[in-house]
Amino acid sequence: MGSKEKVIIVGAGHAGANVAFNLRRDGFQGDVTILTEENHLPYHRPPLSKDFFKAKIEKEKLSLKQPSFYEENNILLQTGVRVEAIDRSNKTVEGSFGILDYSYLVLATGASPRVLNDADGENTFYLRTMDDVMHISNCLSVGSRVGLIGGGYIGLELAASLIEMEMHPVIIEAEERLLKRVTSEEVSEFYKDFHISKGVDIRCSTRVSEYKKLENRVFAMVLDSGDEIQVDALIVGIGAVPNTALAEGAGLACSNGICVDAYCRSEDPFILSAGDCTQHINQFYRHSMRLESVPNALAQAKVVSSSIVGGDMTYNELPWFWSDQFDLKLQMTGLSGGYDESFIVGKKEEAQFISYYGKNGSLIAVDSINSPKEFMAIKRALSNGFNITMETVRDPNFKPENLFSGSS
Ligand code: NAP
Repeated sequence: MGSKEKVIIVGAGHAGANVAFNLRRDGFQGDVTILTEENHLPYHRPPLSKDFFKAKIEKEKLSLKQPSFYEENNILLQTGVRVEAIDRSNKTVEGSFGILDYSYLVLATGASPRVLNDADGENTFYLRTMDDVMHISNCLSVGSRVGLIGGGYIGLELAASLIEMEMHPVIIEAEERLLKRVTSEEVSEFYKDFHISKGVDIRCSTRVSEYKKLENRVFAMVLDSGDEIQVDALIVGIGAVPNTALAEGAGLACSNGICVDAYCRSEDPFILSAGDCTQHINQFYRHSMRLESVPNALAQAKVVSSSIVGGDMTYNELPWFWSDQFDLKLQMTGLSGGYDESFIVGKKEEAQFISYYGKNGSLIAVDSINSPKEFMAIKRALSNGFNITMETVRDPNFKPENLFSGSS
């Protein structure tokens, strides 16, 4: 590939930044430019709701790479810029930086928090970026009462952080249980009980019908049950929507995400996409999906780079996720949706167990709580296409670690 090739990457999250890193690792000799609206070096996002939120780590520690890395690897990072439009026929992008031409364009535009329309007071926040955390922190102090709308990953991770910061979180979840879309009733119940035991106030099957402004920046959440809960701040975590406006404006196919093939190419072969914003085919499930997870962003960033340098890598990843709350390490692999049997093995009372999910007699997914060794073995086996029967898993002598030794 000649040195005149130019790759422009829009977005500097895990997906965008890693496309740049991988291009250099894969020997790409052309220009690599990352354009990002944020005013920071690309950074790790998982700590935003945990150690960074609790001010346990400094901003600099979040950086994926030190500034010198970008210089040494000839990666041009333009922060604080917004891409407004793509001109596919001329292969250019236009924005606050002017007009830039590309050989390949990578859309790693991520996702944005779903907005709660009726809550927009001055103490209402969303958490997606480092700046969001800094704004939220300015409004909180020991003893603050914080309403968390949504009992998903953001709500639960923040609840744990807030308790450790000696504040008072109350979670409002519209569904009848926490993490409903991603886990079983039993695991949801375990998380609910655990959080309550630590002091989190949890209200399920309810919504806020009114946000009533009281004095001194305090307001009350009026629940549809009629209950009123006074809070000093509100943090909304009710899901995320993919940032597809730029792709749609360029006429690219989008359907809950930018549609890409197994090579992470959009329908324009010179425009590729990776991360939370993609609607992609997953070879394990043979249908398309959108995943919001760091492992997915990292896997797709490898594929994008390979496609640009002329490799033949395809996206072939078993989905997996993790979430740390208090001293609970939750790791999930596979997609449990549609399971027809599930059961738990381990010690729930000691917060160390695995929930197995099966369909048609085969294992399709697990949720692992504080069992990383077993989790890694199962993830590896499922990723390698092992057909593990539920009968095998139900055997009291089954040990995930033995899956590779033939003695499971
Ligand atoms: P989430 O995990 O999808 O959970 C949102 C929850 O809020 C869902 O249970 C949802 O119910 C509920 N909800 C929706 N509307 C509501 C309303 N009006 N009132 C009360 N509850 C409502 O989304 P999230 O916690 O906002 O996280 C967003 C994204 O951040 C994640 O998808 C992920 O990309 C990222 N994130 C990931 C991690 C991790 O992987 N550890 C941690 C933090 C953030 P329905 O299902 O019925 O909509």
